[in-house]
Formats: sequence, C-alpha cells, structure tokens
Amino acid sequence: MSTLLELSGVSVSFDGFKAINNLAFQIGEPEMRAIIGPNGAGKTTFMDIITGKTKPDEGRVLWGEKSINLIGKSESQIAREGIGRKFQKPTVFEDQTVRENLAMALKNPRGPFEVLFYRKSADGALRIEALAAEINLTEQLLRKAGELSHGQKQWLEIGMLLAQDPRLLLVDEPAAGMTPAEREKTTEILVEAAKTRAVVVVEHDMEFVRRLNCKVTVLHEGSVLAEGSIDHVTQNPEVIDVYLGR
Ligand code: ADP
Repeated sequence: MSTLLELSGVSVSFDGFKAINNLAFQIGEPEMRAIIGPNGAGKTTFMDIITGKTKPDEGRVLWGEKSINLIGKSESQIAREGIGRKFQKPTVFEDQTVRENLAMALKNPRGPFEVLFYRKSADGALRIEALAAEINLTEQLLRKAGELSHGQKQWLEIGMLLAQDPRLLLVDEPAAGMTPAEREKTTEILVEAAKTRAVVVVEHDMEFVRRLNCKVTVLHEGSVLAEGSIDHVTQNPEVIDVYLGR
C-alpha cells in the first residue's frame, strides 16, 4: 500500500476560530478509512479542504506518486485528479432510469464539470451492467431513479461516482436513514470499492464503522485525537470523554 494523500500541518480558521488545527493525515491506496468525531470536530471542513472547496491558511495537501500539492487547485482540477465526493443527500437524476444515470456518469469521467470524451457504447453497456451489479441495482436498471428507495438512491450515486473511477472516494454518512439490510449492503459496496482505491467514510453510526473493519481516525477540535482499530479508539479515555461519553 503506497501513500495516496498526505495532509501535514493543515490549519484553517473561520473568523478567528480554528476549525482545522495543525492536522496531519495519511491514506494509502488501496485503503478503507473511517473518520469519526463529535459535531463540530472538523469532518466536513476536512473533506472541503481535500476537494478544494476550502483553502487552508497553512499546511500541505500532497497527492499521488508525484506528491502534487492540491492547495490552490480548483475543485474541478481536483475532481479530475481522481477525487470523488459523495455528500449526505443523494443527488441523482430522478426522471432518468438507473441505466441512464450510470450512462451519464460514464460519459462525464472525473466530475460533472466537463465532458471530456464519450466512451464507446458497447464498452459502456458492459460497464453499466458491472456497475449495477456492484451497487446491487441490477434488477432496477430500467426503473426511474425517483422510484428507488432512499438506500438505493445512495447506491446509485455511489455507482455514478465509481463510474468516474476515482482513486479516492470521500463518502459522508452513507448509512444515514437506511434500513438495517440496506446498511449491510452499503458496507459490502464500500468494502468492495476500497479493494482497488482509497475510500474515506465519515460516519456517526459506530456499528456501521465497526463492520467496515478498517483503521479509524477520530477528529476533535480540528486535529486527530486518536487513530487505530475501532476497539483501540473506542477504548481511548480521551475519545470516551469527548465523543462517546456524551
Ligand atoms: P463537523 O463536520 O465535524 O460537524 P465542521 O467541519 O462542519 O464539523 O465544522 C468545524 C467547525 O468549524 C464548527 O465549529 C463549525 O461551526 C465551523 N465552521 C465550519 N464551516 C464554517 C464556515 N464556513 N464559517 C464559519 N465557521 C465554520
């Protein structure tokens, strides 16, 4: 596993308040990582920095084998580097079928910002079927996305991001609002995706995090408070104090 992304000494303040404070973070390729932390810990800001939405005041965000500094690059440039982000709320094209949604994502590699090239349709059809199988929506390929359950919409959006073949996928609370069966399937989808890429999952649901069976990073006041297995971090007294002992 080689390092794909490395943040060091990253800080950002909003009106004098340090939302991210001298943060250090590394993720390899492939790797699955869960990020936990209480509200206000800096999880969203952390993802905003990686995706170029927020520019840090200090520090470095180094990417890939050439250690390119991502700071100062635009959101679309960063998306084209291969960083995909899934926000909490699913954003799919409700009037289009699952197949059409996936086809659209395949036609827009690496972000919705620019149409770079069109893939050949024969190749596309196979890719769509493989993607649908990966996200458990084979039976729903011809259904309108608007008719899917909340969980299925989340999977579809994950599939649309996977269509763009990101090297790093950032996923914000994927299991929120899902049924237990959907949660379990979501775990499988993410674990499978993390076999060939880096996946960062921000999640509140500890049982969900446990099932991801990966290294966990605990954020608190914009810094890493603890890192390790779920058992390691949940037994850490400082973590219990700030996060679990609420
Ligand atoms: P989390 O996602 O872990 O709940 P956030 O990254 O959203 O945490 O927020 C970290 C801290 O930074 C919070 O105290 C929040 O109020 C503050 N913050 C985040 N974004 C802004 C902003 N654009 N302006 C001012 N304060 C912000």
